Amino acid sequence: MDHAGRVERLRAAMASECDALLVTNLKNVRYLTGFTGSAGMLLVTADDLLLTSDGRYGTQIAEQVRLPAQVEIGLPGAQRDAVVAHAKRFQRVGLEAASVTWAQQRSMAAEWFASATLVPTLGLVERLREVKDEGEVARIQAAADCADGALAHLRALLYEGPTEAEFALALDSEMRRRGATGPSFETIVASGPNGAKPHHRPTARRIERGELVVLDFGALFDGYCSDMTRTVSVGEPTDPMALRMYEVVRQSQAAGVAAVASGRGALDVDTACREVIGAAGWGSAFVHGTGHGVGLDIHEAPAVGSTSADTLAAGNVVTVEPGVYLPEHGGVRIEDTVVVTADGCRILTSSPKELVA
Ligand code: ZN
Ligand code: ZN
Repeated sequence: MDHAGRVERLRAAMASECDALLVTNLKNVRYLTGFTGSAGMLLVTADDLLLTSDGRYGTQIAEQVRLPAQVEIGLPGAQRDAVVAHAKRFQRVGLEAASVTWAQQRSMAAEWFASATLVPTLGLVERLREVKDEGEVARIQAAADCADGALAHLRALLYEGPTEAEFALALDSEMRRRGATGPSFETIVASGPNGAKPHHRPTARRIERGELVVLDFGALFDGYCSDMTRTVSVGEPTDPMALRMYEVVRQSQAAGVAAVASGRGALDVDTACREVIGAAGWGSAFVHGTGHGVGLDIHEAPAVGSTSADTLAAGNVVTVEPGVYLPEHGGVRIEDTVVVTADGCRILTSSPKELVA
């Protein structure tokens, strides 16, 4: 991971807005420094770095951070004093507006940086994070492999009639057994009528033969997320509509993946998916966006949706996940995580897409 390169790119990006940027979003701190602790702040200036945290993390910072950063370990007051002393020579101090609470901002404006101009910044680090380097793509691939392996291992279990909650637990533990540190978000197992709710939470309902089951899950591997949805039927589907829904969503998802390439609008991917589902008469049953960026966060930029103004770039990692939800028939969603390349994309999630599990 080229942390020094990331810091340099941030310095170039922030120069027009602020002289010093106080990074308080911990995913951003991790991205810039490699420090994975649960508390800390990073002050980035044109020529140096100050990283603060508390006594739990002194050893960890020494192990994880390879950058030439000044480190302050102490109680919150000592961390604040170090940041204030360090930022004193700067007029424009940037805060990450999306990660600072109103109460924090008021305290910082009145007590921390009373003589400076506080600048609310948006997405300075997040925009850098949109383009993944090889090390990041390798971690997302490893996460996707954990999830693929878990599903392959557990397909037969579906035929034993587990509850949604039991199957979700089995997926989560199998991903961990394969090297994941956990699920990348709360695993969705939505069977029969529950499949019509896109973000259904697993219940004690038993998975029955012949019904559709939406499985949406991912692994977390060394801080990076994967995200995949497969819809399966346990045995041949009993509802003829299920087959038609599946075929339409499968074609829609393939059209979306085919529309992904560097230089193309994220909106084009959404349109490609929506056209197929609309032509089948189910446009209003595709009730969510087509996809999202994936990285340190399970949902990050760029967005892939009907209002997205983002242009895809090589190194973006995004999902393509159209779905159709009909209360009387259940739901179908198919989702892959892909990395954008110059002439298309490479699919990182590779579980088969046969309807019958
Ligand atoms: Zn998903
Ligand atoms: Zn997703």
